[in-house]
Amino acid sequence: MTVNVDVKTFPLFINGKWEAASSQETFEVLNPATGELVARVAKGNEADVDRAVDAARRAFDETDWKDMKPKDRSKVLYAISYQIAAHAEELAYLEAVSSGGTVRRIGANDILQMVDLFQTLAKFVEEYEFSETLPSPPFPGPAHNFIWREPIGVCAAITPWNLPMVIATWKIAPALAMGNTVVVKPASYTPLSTLKLAEIISQVVPPGVINVVTGPGAEVGEKLASHPKVDKVAFTGSTEVGRKVMQLAAGTVKNTTLELGGKSPNIILEDADLSIALPGSLFGVFLHSGQLCESGTRLFVPDHLHDVIVENLVKLAGKIKLGNPLDPASDVGPVISQKQKETILSYIEAGKAEGATLVCGGNEAKVAGCENGHFIEPTIFTNVTNDMKIAREEIFGPVLSVIRYTDVEDAIKMANDSIYGLAAGVWTRDVNKAYEVARKLQAGVVWINDWHMLRNDAPFGGYKQSGIGREMGKHSLDAYTQVKHVHTSMVPEAHKRTWYGLLLSDTAE
Ligand code: NAD
Repeated sequence: MTVNVDVKTFPLFINGKWEAASSQETFEVLNPATGELVARVAKGNEADVDRAVDAARRAFDETDWKDMKPKDRSKVLYAISYQIAAHAEELAYLEAVSSGGTVRRIGANDILQMVDLFQTLAKFVEEYEFSETLPSPPFPGPAHNFIWREPIGVCAAITPWNLPMVIATWKIAPALAMGNTVVVKPASYTPLSTLKLAEIISQVVPPGVINVVTGPGAEVGEKLASHPKVDKVAFTGSTEVGRKVMQLAAGTVKNTTLELGGKSPNIILEDADLSIALPGSLFGVFLHSGQLCESGTRLFVPDHLHDVIVENLVKLAGKIKLGNPLDPASDVGPVISQKQKETILSYIEAGKAEGATLVCGGNEAKVAGCENGHFIEPTIFTNVTNDMKIAREEIFGPVLSVIRYTDVEDAIKMANDSIYGLAAGVWTRDVNKAYEVARKLQAGVVWINDWHMLRNDAPFGGYKQSGIGREMGKHSLDAYTQVKHVHTSMVPEAHKRTWYGLLLSDTAE
């Protein structure tokens, strides 16, 4: 795939315009598949965050953006979705050359998901209950009571490198749908598609409604999370940084949503149809080289089926074709960086050292034409116990841990024995058994005989240390509003307002 775009320099996007960083400094974005320089991007700092937040503040406080009627706002969301579709090829290219995601996945899934999210929320906005009227109370007396849903204000969106555009959209779309303004801080490996997305969105929203400040997490991210003029912070990333963001946001008691890490359990029951459970489990863990927060990285298998399951998983894993993400024939691209590759390889060494058996992969992979890329073979360990490091910590790479069980209740107990609770799955032919297991699993989403099936009209988010709050669906609209109760008494005479007697025994003039 080739696209004729200048990807060499990207400034910040503030107040509807491209602007250089105040330091004039830039940082490099490299293609993880080839090591080549893709672009130089403005290195924002605290002063740039102030500029972007001020622009977002003005757009919220001083324009009628927040007061737009739902019908008109819905039209804006549709218009954005058409713009994304019109720029699909360029967005897919920018995403693939920086994140290592395959164009096959980005084109067939990510772009469509983004378009559909804006359209789904466009429909939801028209039906959303912005004002609810309560029945007049018999006591203490007649009154009109409303509950109003109002935008929160300036929202900071801090996003990771694995699915940069999709995750930015999970925050931007509901924020705009409810009349907020946004400052996005993308991960430094993958800022390009988010910058382009902001430019696209700015074609249909007033200046300052969407802004992007690129730069280091410790500077730009921390400043946004603690900024007194930012009303909400929506963060997706590691649990470790999520804790820090929560602490920073606490200083000004910001509304905070967190989408964090996972170590998701995948349970194959003994009656499962292995012809779908095995490719499904590999799809669940090796898509995007395991760099998806909801990947099913712990596979629980019945003891007596262990050998047949592992033998077939290894055969199937051998068919996964690593390659340049721009080649539609590639199943999987690289991991994001040299550093991430080293981290994953060190987890593989830890697995071996703790006594797990490596049955597939385990090495850096060499890919023809991508000699400087960061590829890792799909890796499978068996004889893993749930207390090993590779079963407890999020690796964020193509590593599957197979854990045996003899009793389903034990499998569920091990599945839940994790600080994380993002996703879980169960494979069985018995739907009642599936629901029974699903009820007991501590996770924000449970897939039965499937994996990775997120929907734009359904909430996504974590239990336990996988996060706070939900994205997508109607829940995400709630997450970008605050609630106001408005009371009007219909009792005109003071002496009939018996509750005044709690203070004044005589209200007669
Ligand atoms: P990360 O936590 O390192 O970084 C995420 C973002 O936070 C980046 O933009 C980074 O620059 C910024 N950041 C870093 N330090 C910061 C600080 N001190 N203050 C404020 N911001 C800071 O995560 P990552 O490595 O980019 O992404 C991988 C992680 O994201 C994995 O743990 C994965 O599970 C998680 N993730 C979760 C979801 C979800 O929906 N739950 C989705 C995708 C990824």
